[in-house]
Amino acid sequence: MIQTNIRNIAIIAHVDHGKTTLVDEMLKQSGTFRSNEQVEERVMDSNDLERERGITILSKNTSIIYEGVKINIVDTPGHADFGGEVERIMQMVEGVLLLVDAFEGPMPQTKFVLRKALDAGLKPIVVVNKIDRPEARVEEVLDEVLDLFIELDADDEQLDFPVIYASAKSGIAKYELSDTNEDMLPLFNMILKEVPAPKGEIDDGLQLRISSIDYDKYVGRIGIGKITRGTIKKNQEVVLCSADGTLQNFRVSKLYTFSGLKKEEVNEAEFGEIVALSGNDDINIGETICSTDKIEPLPFVKIDEPTLAMNFIVNNSPFAGREGSFITSRHLKDRLERELLSNVALRVEETDSPDAFKVSGRGELHLSILIENMRREGYELSVSRPEVILKEVDGVLCEPMEHVVIEVPEEYMGTVIETLGQRKGEMTNMISNGSGVVKLEFHIPARGLIGYRSQFMTDTRGNGILNHVFAGYEPYKGEIPTRTKGSLVAFETGTAITYGLYNAQDRGNLFIGPGTEVYEGMIVGENSRSGDIVVNVCKRKQLTNMRASGADDAMKLVPPVDMSLEKALEFIAEDELVEVTPENIRLRKKILN
Ligand code: GDP
Repeated sequence: MIQTNIRNIAIIAHVDHGKTTLVDEMLKQSGTFRSNEQVEERVMDSNDLERERGITILSKNTSIIYEGVKINIVDTPGHADFGGEVERIMQMVEGVLLLVDAFEGPMPQTKFVLRKALDAGLKPIVVVNKIDRPEARVEEVLDEVLDLFIELDADDEQLDFPVIYASAKSGIAKYELSDTNEDMLPLFNMILKEVPAPKGEIDDGLQLRISSIDYDKYVGRIGIGKITRGTIKKNQEVVLCSADGTLQNFRVSKLYTFSGLKKEEVNEAEFGEIVALSGNDDINIGETICSTDKIEPLPFVKIDEPTLAMNFIVNNSPFAGREGSFITSRHLKDRLERELLSNVALRVEETDSPDAFKVSGRGELHLSILIENMRREGYELSVSRPEVILKEVDGVLCEPMEHVVIEVPEEYMGTVIETLGQRKGEMTNMISNGSGVVKLEFHIPARGLIGYRSQFMTDTRGNGILNHVFAGYEPYKGEIPTRTKGSLVAFETGTAITYGLYNAQDRGNLFIGPGTEVYEGMIVGENSRSGDIVVNVCKRKQLTNMRASGADDAMKLVPPVDMSLEKALEFIAEDELVEVTPENIRLRKKILN
């Protein structure tokens, strides 16, 4: 059976190519809003950090109704993926929109998600946006999209992609550039025509895999997913099938579908629909909910194990709380526990100190995004330098390995191979596709990747992409040579200086990740109690206070970071870890935007 009145699509776009504007406009024109009602909240844009780094972390659900058909729109993360999120999204939809800026063309960062969409057999609708830009180069951009599809091994049907020409800003979408319509109807019609309606069996037992988790303080934990079989009703007794094979019966206490930007309570929903439900606070991502009479869980999407751990520590400096919000270990614990609800690849453990929690994740980028989010929420905290998680297997000390896939223009290949070689990476594959881009694969200890992403960005002038997946545990390979001097690297991002402290006091790399900003202030220093090098997250004023009072009893500043850009550059120039040139700074800006 086919649900002719439903379409489920995901949107893939590079940051700033106009995804938010497009969805806002789709909401307005589809009649989801009455004309006097404003789109009061921008849809897919709740995480500032995402847009700054070009990385979407949260995925959001929106829906519109057009000609009696409900179109569910699911946002996709950018190039980073911590825990199989992109795969889960692709299993929820029957189609994707690939939104591309008519001037910039497809960006390497969207490749990762696009590949997953193509691998899932989805046929993209290519939306060339911003055709109103005077410098738009529509035909070339379409050629670039085609080249990208070929590079990603798209099949014949996918290569024959439909195209829409849009100016999301003006609310226009057209079939042909020469068309004169002033609305988005061609886009809606194209979605209805090109995206297959969900197929399934309505009279069969319920089957629904949880793709994401939401939390509501009144109803508790909410699971979101697509119904792949049967129907679900409010108050129905269902079975939650966990990864380990445990079954747990529960009653659906609330059931919602998505309507515009909001969740709407419903009493019943059929296969093909994306729903949210509550009633069991143990619901986890990847688990299947079935009817009690037919328990057939869908395969569990494997979530990679955490490989890197950092301590998150309550900031005990005498200045804590003066500017930001002072946090207690209780606050910190609550915040981390909340994070665990939806951040599936994260682990949090208590430590010997009540003020410190060991937070483990899928790499520096994963952890640094959390730190940055918390800082923005006003948390003041310290974090220790990252360490890989070692494990004893059959009496042998083992360390996590990563499978790294890199795509770079040929000219940077030499540097990448050399650097990863020094970091104990072993090249396992090299494919040149003839277009000047090489794909390199490495098998490397997770330790070897600490601090590498930033170096990679610099080495490849922002033109490379780097992804890694967990590749098992192997006997510890011995020390990885590290630099002995501490060094601050900084670069300007907008009004901010972004920096990381490398290799402070020969303790390995302390790295906060690309995009970490200090415009509100951050202290890199030595914790006088533990001797650990930590980064303290706080407000700028606090820094000034500390320096003024010379409060080195709590934190020794290495070095003062509310310095001007010139000062930071001077500092860095002394050490030759990263060459800071105006060109490199521009590059950083480009990467981070
Ligand atoms: P997102 O990061 O993909 O969500 O991008 P936004 O929707 O926030 O748009 C990024 C910028 O591009 C904003 O300044 C928009 O006003 C602008 N923009 C979006 N669509 C268009 C368009 O069709 N034409 C032009 N000229 N600018 C656009």
